[in-house]
Amino acid sequence: MMTAKEIRDSFKKFFESKEHAIVPSAPMVIKDDPTLMFTNAGMNQWKDIILGTRDPEPRRRADTQKCLRVSGKHNDLEEVGHDTYHHTMFEMLGNWSFGDYFKEGAIDMAWEYLVDVLKLNPEDLYVTVFEGSPEENIPRDDEAAKYWAKHVPADHIINGNKHDNFWEMGDTGPCGPCSEIHVDSRTPEQRKASGKTGRELVNQDDPQVIEIWNIVFMQFNRKADGSLEPLSMNVIDTGMGFERLVRMLQGKHSNYDTDVFQPIIKAEQQITGLKYTTFEESENSENSENSEASEAINVAMRVCADHLRAVAFSIADGQLPSNAKAGYVIRRILRRAVRYAYTFLGQKEAFLYKLLPTLVEEMGDAFPELKAQQQLIGKVMKEEEDSFLRTLDKGISMLDKAMEQLRAEGKTELDGVQAFRLFDTYGFPLDLTELICRENGFTVNEEQFNVEMQKQKDRARNAAQVENSDWVELKAGEQQFVGYDNSEYETEILRYRKVTQKKNEFYELVLSATPFYGEMGGQVGEQGVLVSENETIEIIDTKRENNQSVHIVKQLPKDPTAQFMACVDTDKRDASAANHTATHLLDYALKQVLGDHVEQKGSFVSPDTLRFDFSHFEKVSDEQLREVERIVNDMIRQDLPLDEHRDTPFEEAKEMGAIALFGEKYGDKVRVVRFGPSCEFCGGIHAKSTGRIGMFKIISESSVAAGIRRIEAKTGKECEELLYNLEDTLKAVKSFFNNAKDLQGVIRKYIEEHDTMKKEIESFQAQAVERAAKQLVEKAREVNGVKVVTAVLPMEPAAAKDLAFKVRAAVSGSLLCVLGTKHQDKPQLTIMLSDDLVAEHSLNAGQMVREAAKLIQGGGGGQPHFAQAGGKNADGLSAAVDKVVELAKL
Ligand code: ATP
Ligand code: MG
Repeated sequence: MMTAKEIRDSFKKFFESKEHAIVPSAPMVIKDDPTLMFTNAGMNQWKDIILGTRDPEPRRRADTQKCLRVSGKHNDLEEVGHDTYHHTMFEMLGNWSFGDYFKEGAIDMAWEYLVDVLKLNPEDLYVTVFEGSPEENIPRDDEAAKYWAKHVPADHIINGNKHDNFWEMGDTGPCGPCSEIHVDSRTPEQRKASGKTGRELVNQDDPQVIEIWNIVFMQFNRKADGSLEPLSMNVIDTGMGFERLVRMLQGKHSNYDTDVFQPIIKAEQQITGLKYTTFEESENSENSENSEASEAINVAMRVCADHLRAVAFSIADGQLPSNAKAGYVIRRILRRAVRYAYTFLGQKEAFLYKLLPTLVEEMGDAFPELKAQQQLIGKVMKEEEDSFLRTLDKGISMLDKAMEQLRAEGKTELDGVQAFRLFDTYGFPLDLTELICRENGFTVNEEQFNVEMQKQKDRARNAAQVENSDWVELKAGEQQFVGYDNSEYETEILRYRKVTQKKNEFYELVLSATPFYGEMGGQVGEQGVLVSENETIEIIDTKRENNQSVHIVKQLPKDPTAQFMACVDTDKRDASAANHTATHLLDYALKQVLGDHVEQKGSFVSPDTLRFDFSHFEKVSDEQLREVERIVNDMIRQDLPLDEHRDTPFEEAKEMGAIALFGEKYGDKVRVVRFGPSCEFCGGIHAKSTGRIGMFKIISESSVAAGIRRIEAKTGKECEELLYNLEDTLKAVKSFFNNAKDLQGVIRKYIEEHDTMKKEIESFQAQAVERAAKQLVEKAREVNGVKVVTAVLPMEPAAAKDLAFKVRAAVSGSLLCVLGTKHQDKPQLTIMLSDDLVAEHSLNAGQMVREAAKLIQGGGGGQPHFAQAGGKNADGLSAAVDKVVELAKL
């Protein structure tokens, strides 16, 4: 039996023998494409070749590509774990032809590989071809059917509809028919029991008759009006699910029973003490008593084994869990696993991270990025798990309260709005809420929940809606980027299109040659102007799409076919360049000071600031930050020149010692940027020499996630501003102290004096209160056996309270004490009653103070025996005091 590793290798070997270049997997997390967060198919990394904006050589390629299908067009997340053949992260084996062989070649090779090389039984294989679409005027794919007929009998060729057998890149763009290969992997018993042929079960969601390979024949281009035109270059794009293939070759009936997943599942069993039931075991077992419970355990173990891979590989690719975009998707995957482990595997503490060593052992050789970053991945996972478990606890106690309320009201149904709030704030999905409710005898209003969910989805969709018109082609040709050597360049518009986003309209332009750097690798897009003889158009931003700079403008030039000068705003460029170069020096200095484990994990470079995220496991101390600043500033003073190597072969660049980032996509040829000892792979715009940075100053160091720190810093002019601000503040402070020479000494003395005086004042106040209390009690009237103490006097609110309590302590019998005090023109009313007045006469100081405070235009409250109120009108104080006495009706 072939192992998974041998199968992976055999695929590469086979296509190598068919003259394909074997290329590496692109990262699973996509950094520079606004339309796609994760690689969801092998073809993603060839999008620009297919769209004609990149050189197609070599025209035959093959690889295994890490894919993630958890958002957008392909979202399998909810299936994962419940079925045995959809994963979030999986490997897609693929071969491509860019204008080389087409349908016949692709079909012959696929067949040869599966049947001649791997020896799959042809009787178990079925293929589909596109049935055609009369309304779109596309005929059946007779061509593909003809080539299949060379290999398979007619009853193994099945017509398929547009949904399954017509592939489209998006609403517009390349598309074409496809053929899928399905395998009937049912056991003889299952075949007998079902009485159906494999043919009848293709594309019917039968877990044993599944698609393994999809071969796409791209031959059309879809325009925005929906019509199709022939593609200038035919493309073969194939994708085969590696885990599914392994399962077929290892004679298993579940992807999870193969050696891809079994080691992880074994580890899960060991940690939880629970049993995973394989397909064979469940087929052979006599009793089906515990089947429901063991199925729940099975699902949970599959979910965790699967999600572990997705999360670990994403973190290795540089995508940390977070609150937005791709980071949020990863966070949700991890949380889904935690929930299953919590609910069905009894794991109340972090669990997933414990499986990581097994994953690294199994896959670390094929994917070295996993092994290299194991420590970081484990830390990030554990912290995410811990923090979500805390949230879960909070949510559970919220749910407990809600159920208690229901019980009190005699209800049995939790309303859907509450269930949705639990979902939205605490990540409680409906099934978990339902489960907990059910255990306590409650139901959940699912309909209401769905209504709330839909509302949220609508809100999100409306916010994100973008409409693209067709590109209007003015001239044929490829864009040339000239920005490394120029900030101004003569050019023409190749094509443009209108984009509408939330009623906002703008245009995207592609120029024949451009000095504008499009947003990429953390450096923001450039701004500037497009000038023709008659007009000047502002370029407000530049994006990077499919290997090109796309310029964003508010309006089109009156004559789009004119000759233009494209001019970059050089002040902004110089400032950005200085910041970008400074991040390289910072990276170098951090490695010197903290150690070689420092890995860049993200960066942001704009004209006015720079941000650099890196792996490091503790706070960077003030001394270390100083040391880093010293190294960087030293390199600035050395004025190291930019030493740039364009179009360097990848391997050569590595030999030069250039630092490549995990999760970054590099072509065969790369650019290396060197400043003295700092040497990195980088496509950015840099300072001509480090001296241009002027100066470097860190302004903050903080944590962004477990094991990841962030440094923000300023350079050049911004440092000057920083210095001036500091200087101004210092000057202002000095002037407060008569420009004393020994400023620190003087301030320290002031603080000491202030503290001493404060203490003295407090003690004077206490004495004054003591005296006042004595005098007030001596002067007190007596009405019907109640001592009545009233006074209007200047005093702080806190002292008034103190005074009232002192008076109370000094009077043994019944007491009504009303104080009207004034502090800085603010009136305050204080009432103190003896307990018997509260208990026997039903007096309430809180109510009385509210009523009387109207006379000082204020309000307040308190307890029955003591209350205070503040106000605005100090002139009403005496009247308010009298009012209280009147209210007491003694
Ligand atoms: P299915 O209908 O089974 O979901 P698909 O039509 O979505 O498959 P394609 O988009 O054609 O699949 O992807 C090509 C191949 O990748 C499939 O034939 C299958 O072998 C594999 N594949 C697709 N989705 C997954 C997944 N979620 N997990 C594992 N393998 C997958
Ligand atoms: Mg699918």
